[in-house]
Amino acid sequence: MADPTATVADFPGRAELESLLAGLVPPEWVAAVHRGDEGEIESLRGTIDRGAVVLALGRAGWIAPHYAREYGGRGLAREEAQRALTLLGLWDVPHAPLGSGVPLAAPTIDQWSDEDTKQHLLPPLLSGAERWCQLFSEPGAGSDMASLSTTAQRDGDEWVVNGQKVWTTYGHLAERAMLLARTDPDQPKHKGITYFGLDMRSPGVEVRPLINMAGQREFNEVYLTDVRVPDIDRISPVGEGWAAAVTTLSAERHALSGLARKKRKASDEILGGKPYVDVERLAIARGVTRDPLGRQRLMAAYIEHRVLTMSIQRSRARLAAGHPPGSEGSLTKIAKAAANQRLQEVAMHVLGADATAWVQGDTEAEEWITQFLRTRANSIEGGTSEIQRNIIGERVLGLPREPDPYKGVDWRSVPR
Ligand SMILES: Cc1cc2nc3c(=O)[nH]c(=O)nc-3n(C[C@H](O)[C@H](O)[C@H](O)COP(=O)(O)OP(=O)(O)OC[C@H]3O[C@@H](n4cnc5c(N)ncnc54)[C@H](O)[C@@H]3O)c2cc1C
Repeated sequence: MADPTATVADFPGRAELESLLAGLVPPEWVAAVHRGDEGEIESLRGTIDRGAVVLALGRAGWIAPHYAREYGGRGLAREEAQRALTLLGLWDVPHAPLGSGVPLAAPTIDQWSDEDTKQHLLPPLLSGAERWCQLFSEPGAGSDMASLSTTAQRDGDEWVVNGQKVWTTYGHLAERAMLLARTDPDQPKHKGITYFGLDMRSPGVEVRPLINMAGQREFNEVYLTDVRVPDIDRISPVGEGWAAAVTTLSAERHALSGLARKKRKASDEILGGKPYVDVERLAIARGVTRDPLGRQRLMAAYIEHRVLTMSIQRSRARLAAGHPPGSEGSLTKIAKAAANQRLQEVAMHVLGADATAWVQGDTEAEEWITQFLRTRANSIEGGTSEIQRNIIGERVLGLPREPDPYKGVDWRSVPR
């Protein structure tokens, strides 16, 4: 196979990036990249230190190369930066810190923060030194996030934060968090919110684990007790946190919708679950392709996979042609969540009795089941499928807005 990296057009600093990459992975990896041998790269994955690779790339400005150098990028034009990221994708090395800092926090800070805050928060984020999590959801505020109760009260140059957050993915690993807190309870719910970049190492931040049904520690509860946040960590203007949160939430929907360009095939980019090709391989290995019902289910999953891939390609082409981003993200997010869940159900059908009573130590079955369980979250995380349907109803179909009997009423007076 011809060298796939040769198809990437040039950009400033390319030679420097390629020599940096060659020093970060073993020579067999470099050879596999130039042969386009994804299987070989996969088999070498255990030979690199993920954190060290991310930090080395981040220190050189390659995590987010279109940001200015003073913020930790390389000041490349958008298309040049895109080429650099495509090249990094072909090298298949980790090039972003764990968590939601780069895709969600960075664009929000870039759009909403004043210069001092940008200089303070962006360099550690874009160099990979700080991993970020998201402190939005609360026990009483999930889909209706704007009704959140965590408070931040001003005290000189600081804010004092009290409240409880929940479902905080990677909260136990992150150094910083996107935090929404109520700064004015006498305003209607969407108005009195402010957005902060909370230092998770501050006194008063307590992270308690939640174990998901697959037995993994992915998310947490976070208790905030008299946590002092310096004003320089305030991301939005006071009282404009909701508008800034909309920037984050649109970026999140985009990331989960499959429209964000990544190396893997469009419909494989979803959290949890195995891709279609793996399910097909499992079905062949277990002889299920000879069973008419099994074949039918597999074909239905294949058709869904193809239709979804094409829909995503069409939406990407619209975006690339300069059409403003609309509600495509909501459409593909719902479709991907449903298709991924159905695909993992097909895998359970293929496993048959092994899906409920596998032999102890059968790590293959265990892995399939863990992935199946994880995908139940696809229709909840990043906004539930019901909420995405509301968005489509209101913004695409022009249906009447959902009634809100408390519209315009100050947050303090709304019963909860
Ligand atoms: C794996 C995972 C990771 C997550 N990570 C994070 C994170 O890192 N940070 C963070 O802040 N949050 C995170 N979340 C939380 C997630 O954003 C919320 O779970 C989600 O927004 C739904 O809120 P809720 O769980 O409170 O459900 P609720 O809002 O209580 O909803 C319950 C049910 O009612 C339906 N419903 C609610 N309102 C309406 C309506 N108006 N119309 C129709 N139906 C409605 C919902 O669709 C749902 O079926 C995560 C969730 C999951 C599953």
